[in-house]
Amino acid sequence: MFEDNFRKVEPYTPGEQTNDPSVVKINTNECPYPPSPEVEKALKNLDLDKLRLYPQPACNLLVDAIAEVYGLPADQVFVGVGSDDVLSMAFMTFFNSGKPVLFPDITYSFYDVWANLHGVPYKQIPLDKDFNIVKEDYYQENGGIIFPNPNAPTGVLVGLDMIEDILVHNPNRVVIVDEAYIDFGGESALPLIDKYENLLVVQTYSKSRALAGIRIGMAFGSKKLIKYLSDVKFSFNSYTMNTPALVAGAAAIRDKEYFEMTVAKVIKTREWMKEELKKLGFEFRDSMSNFVFATHPKYKAKDILDYLRANKVLVRYFNNPRIDNYLRISVGTDEQANKLIALLKDYIK
Ligand code: PMP
Repeated sequence: MFEDNFRKVEPYTPGEQTNDPSVVKINTNECPYPPSPEVEKALKNLDLDKLRLYPQPACNLLVDAIAEVYGLPADQVFVGVGSDDVLSMAFMTFFNSGKPVLFPDITYSFYDVWANLHGVPYKQIPLDKDFNIVKEDYYQENGGIIFPNPNAPTGVLVGLDMIEDILVHNPNRVVIVDEAYIDFGGESALPLIDKYENLLVVQTYSKSRALAGIRIGMAFGSKKLIKYLSDVKFSFNSYTMNTPALVAGAAAIRDKEYFEMTVAKVIKTREWMKEELKKLGFEFRDSMSNFVFATHPKYKAKDILDYLRANKVLVRYFNNPRIDNYLRISVGTDEQANKLIALLKDYIK
């Protein structure tokens, strides 16, 4: 057969996108606020003649800006087309021992897709019944470790003591901490990269920096990790990032004040949402991200999902074992959160 020798994969399914402005879209953890005004300025000033030329292969403009803001040497910073690109490259670069890579059973559902794509064996480690990572489970032999902190979609944050413990028990394996949601109240593992040569910290512009549409992700690590990651990137695609993204990303990262203000607004709305959801009888672990992962003892998540959708509110539902009665609800603006809570009040009588 023609297709016999094709690679066959089960792709990741991203959350639904919509162009209907009347829909309250709280299903993909985007930022409900626009990016920094500095981004608009930078893009308006972009010399379009530059687009004739290839972008910088090493993305220096962006890497230097990130390095400056984070107080790191540029050779400890790597950037890619969203953290999805960075993470996929990291799977390719670091997980080649033939032993299983470990990650939680309930986690970002792209990890097993990349493992399958890149031919990396893996083992999903069950979270405990309260969705906690059990650190001792990561002492077993493995080919590398990856988990988000806070975890997604649970929102549960672990402390740096647990991350250090896992690093200490795995000195010969790369440990990747995916910090997509760290800016919403967690403590970053970034200061540990100089202590542990095997730690890669991955972050993104898609959530706290309101630039999901421009696709920027970054990794921080020892010079050694960044060098190997860059070699793989240059063997895959020299020009992963386009010039407008480099320009916009450099402008956004320097606007610390806007970033802090945006994050503070999201956190404030999240805390209000938590209180209101609790009053309605929802149960959830305390989320330190820009979403709440909630279940209701009396109502089926799937039914709530359908009811909200019928009322033009999109939230995320995963039909997976252990979490098929949960909804992941992104924190929107106050107005969006109000609409959500008003609808739920009508539903839960
Ligand atoms: N990691 C986690 C845990 C995520 O939830 C997401 C968002 N889907 C990503 C990484 C990827 O985000 P992006 O590619 O937009 O940076």
